[in-house]
Amino acid sequence: ASIIGITKFLPSYPGFLFEHEVEGLLRVLEFKTRPLTVILGGAKSSSKLLLLKTFLKRADNILLGGILANTILQAQGIAVGRSRVDDEVMQEVKDLLLTDKKLHLPLDLKVARADLLTETGPIETRICAVGKVKDDEYIYDIGPETGTLFANIIAESKEIIWNGPMGVIEKKEFMPGTERVARAVADSGAYSVVGGGESVMALHKLGLSNNISHISTAGGAMLQFLSREPLPGVEALQIP
Ligand code: ADP
Ligand code: MG
Repeated sequence: ASIIGITKFLPSYPGFLFEHEVEGLLRVLEFKTRPLTVILGGAKSSSKLLLLKTFLKRADNILLGGILANTILQAQGIAVGRSRVDDEVMQEVKDLLLTDKKLHLPLDLKVARADLLTETGPIETRICAVGKVKDDEYIYDIGPETGTLFANIIAESKEIIWNGPMGVIEKKEFMPGTERVARAVADSGAYSVVGGGESVMALHKLGLSNNISHISTAGGAMLQFLSREPLPGVEALQIP
């Protein structure tokens, strides 16, 4: 009723936040300035995969971390130990053009033997090259070499879309990868769009929110909007 129903009975308009979101996001869909870099991490792989597929054609760089990266590594037959992967998208990522030069997977990783769901004490961690993760280890963050690679690419970008942390930011041991990325985005001077509950939380925690051009509060709807998927509430208001 509140999203589309009312538009059938009354002249309807977006509120200020809605309008701000649409303007902020449309700006990156104009592809005005290049290079455009898309950074994807976090947990909900299926919604991020949609964005990955959309921008594989249009972005200049795609940087991957989080569970989507784990899943793609495993799909390529690279050892990920006990790391969380997303089986639902495993087959689909196998079919992607993963050899595309613009697609950047982690080069190194921060791993631990501890299962973070049960571990409460200090965590012993290790930096290891991709392919060297042991059977009893979990990938919890990108490594420093990857951080440098990603930061360098981000520094040269003129437009940036970022959704999803690079690792398990809830534990301080696995914050550095996301912090590197966040600082690079904030320092880039690019038109930057950041969305996703945890990604935005990381920016606030680091005190970098003011250096981001557009912070989206639209969550999954942001991903859908940027992927040009229909959104009933947007369509009802006949916004482009
Ligand atoms: P956002 O809210 O920014 O869109 P998501 O909700 O998709 O991000 O994912 C955030 C979650 O992803 C965080 O809680 C983080 O712990 C988790 N995460 C990121 N990388 C990993 C990893 N390698 N293993 C397990 N969980 C991860
Ligand atoms: Mg989230």
